[in-house]
Amino acid sequence: MQFSQIIGHQEAKQLLLKSVQQNHVAHAQLFLGQEGSANLALALAYATYINCENKQPDDSCGTCGSCVKMNKLVHPDFNFVMPVTSTKSVSKDALSSKFMNEWREFILASPFQGLNEWMQHIGTENKQGIISKDESRQLVKLVSLKAFEGNYKIVVIWLPELMHPSAANALLKLLEEPPAQTLFLLVAQSAEKLLATITSRTQIMQVRNFTEQEVVQFVQQKYNLEPDRATQIAQLAEGSLNAAAKLTNEISSDYFSFFTEWMRHCYSYKFKELIDMSDKFQTLGRENQKNFLLYALNLFRKVMLFGVDTSLISFLPPAELDFVQKFSKVITGNNAGELAEELNQAHYHIERNANPKMVFVDSSIQIAGFLRKG
Ligand SMILES: [Zn+2]
Repeated sequence: MQFSQIIGHQEAKQLLLKSVQQNHVAHAQLFLGQEGSANLALALAYATYINCENKQPDDSCGTCGSCVKMNKLVHPDFNFVMPVTSTKSVSKDALSSKFMNEWREFILASPFQGLNEWMQHIGTENKQGIISKDESRQLVKLVSLKAFEGNYKIVVIWLPELMHPSAANALLKLLEEPPAQTLFLLVAQSAEKLLATITSRTQIMQVRNFTEQEVVQFVQQKYNLEPDRATQIAQLAEGSLNAAAKLTNEISSDYFSFFTEWMRHCYSYKFKELIDMSDKFQTLGRENQKNFLLYALNLFRKVMLFGVDTSLISFLPPAELDFVQKFSKVITGNNAGELAEELNQAHYHIERNANPKMVFVDSSIQIAGFLRKG
């Protein structure tokens, strides 16, 4: 992975580049970011840069012997520890090293995936992965060896929150007396679940979530989506590229058109049309229905913010902006809370398997009433 393959995050990239260029590489670093963030991707790009034989000012070269191996995750000095569990093919003594082929496939497909996807990938959906006690013995053995090729031996520990206490203690010992020319890159989601004695020995890099614009760019590049659809996905993904990838499969219709049509009919009390729409809503399927309602809530929120201060809405495609502008005259302090609550309720009922058609009709009647109050 190279820095140029990660959208945005210029500040983080500059910090990391500088630390290498000025010889201030800390032996233990913690990349802290939520699922679907760039925490792992940044750690990978950083490791690639450190071992690159022809470093450029802003990135690794991508073509030297080291980069080629790093990018395929086959460099002998690039090691990984991640939560695993016994599976059909590894029925006992589950250790990271036994899952390296799966891990490479998984990361090369997308470094933004989460633990659930990893468990699915190795074929154990219902078990909890862990970094076991035995893993720590492997780790100690591993770092006692000299680097084969690179300047540094690099160990990436993915989700150290899932370390067995004795594995965490073994890691702590390694961090207290760091082996020469060895770097530990911890890629975690929540610092609270780590030993404070571990975090205090790492240099922490906070990795923010992706912005909506960045998610739009990502899904457009990766899935070649139309701008409108990409925007709808970004509004639901909450800065997670993992969520965005899943939504790309789930969202099967144009939420924006459906939503504007819905609101228009509610506003003008066109109940026959609303009944027709409820049939359409029914056919969306439950995941889509829930996503649609979350999308609607998100758009409502934007309308409300727009009513307070137009500059709070930073980024909307022209069609949506036009709608938000018009709709903000109908949504006021009198009805905003009730409208949002109604959508929340509808989502709640769909989640609990209520009849989607009934939920839709019922919400439509409520919303029609609230809109008139504005
Ligand atoms: Zn290189």
